[in-house]
Amino acid sequence: MNITIQPEAIVSLRGFEMPERLGFGTVMAPVMFRARYQDGRWSDGELIPYGPLSLDPAAKVLHYAQSCFEGLKAYRYGDGVGLFRPERNAARMAHSARRLCMPPVPESLFMDAARTVASHCATLIPGNSGESLYLRPFLMGTQPDLSVTASKAYEFYVIASPSEAYHAGNMRLWVEREDSRAAVGGTGDAKVGGNYAASLLSIAGLKERGYDQSLWLNPGNRHTVDELSGMNFFAVMDGALHTPALNGSILEGVTRDSMLALAREQGLEVHEREIDIDDLLALVASGTCSEAFACGTAAIVSPISELGDGDQRYRLQQAPGPVAELLRRSLLDIQEGRAEDRFGWMQKVPVASY
Ligand SMILES: *Cc1c(COP(=O)(O)O)cnc(C)c1O
Repeated sequence: MNITIQPEAIVSLRGFEMPERLGFGTVMAPVMFRARYQDGRWSDGELIPYGPLSLDPAAKVLHYAQSCFEGLKAYRYGDGVGLFRPERNAARMAHSARRLCMPPVPESLFMDAARTVASHCATLIPGNSGESLYLRPFLMGTQPDLSVTASKAYEFYVIASPSEAYHAGNMRLWVEREDSRAAVGGTGDAKVGGNYAASLLSIAGLKERGYDQSLWLNPGNRHTVDELSGMNFFAVMDGALHTPALNGSILEGVTRDSMLALAREQGLEVHEREIDIDDLLALVASGTCSEAFACGTAAIVSPISELGDGDQRYRLQQAPGPVAELLRRSLLDIQEGRAEDRFGWMQKVPVASY
């Protein structure tokens, strides 16, 4: 795979000035990666200036939602840049693409794209703990044609955002018993924008009722816990760590998998199982469930302080609790190079010179 670095991209990088305040996902790096798919094959990739896309109004993505995305982080790492488990994101994006009848981005193309963006944006990575360059790869069907068939043309991009730590703070969750975010047999285990769109209405009215996020139940049985809209769910019961087992409607988080590995390493008892919502609420009420948290790439770990169900509120005793704190610190220590990379999670990328 050849990658072209457009001279205009270098001009954009040289002229870029970091704003004082970053926030999360609002400041965009001045370059992006693009590859195109046409006639059954992928083009070479190119690094180009960041800017608006040109899309035909009949492009399939705009009507039939053929698109999926990923999210991963690049950290300052030794004298270079460290990508955290990017091969997991490559594999997951291939899975999401297949579910929507799109050609999977080959792992080598995905990795080249992430490396090219990370190495050219190395100087844009902020250096305080918790800060990083957030990479957002996405794939979409661009064929201009309103017939309901899979697109024949696709574009794959990676954009990047230098970001502060995403602080969700302590979260109050609303147990969503009416709506579902994804159907059984649908796209729950694929990272697609449509799942997010389906979750927004539930979340929209929450703030005024004193909640931050919806806790989604399994759309088939409507009785066991699945996850949040963009984060996986964990609870600590009698010192053991519990998380819903993967069931087809839960997105398999890279952070989730990393939490499980770190917890096992710490000697914690770990259970991946069905968690009945009424059992969970009773265990929170009795204090057996002392701690709960959500996890994902952006926020890493967000403690949950309260679960609301109808007019009942169930308060967690510890938010943040010791297990969430321990796992968050252990993960960041690896990502920021303070601890040995004993699981082989970090992929080092040299800094590009230009
Ligand atoms: C992206 C995502 C997560 C978290 O996955 P990570 O790989 O840990 O960032 C969890 N749930 C949903 C629905 C997601 O889209």
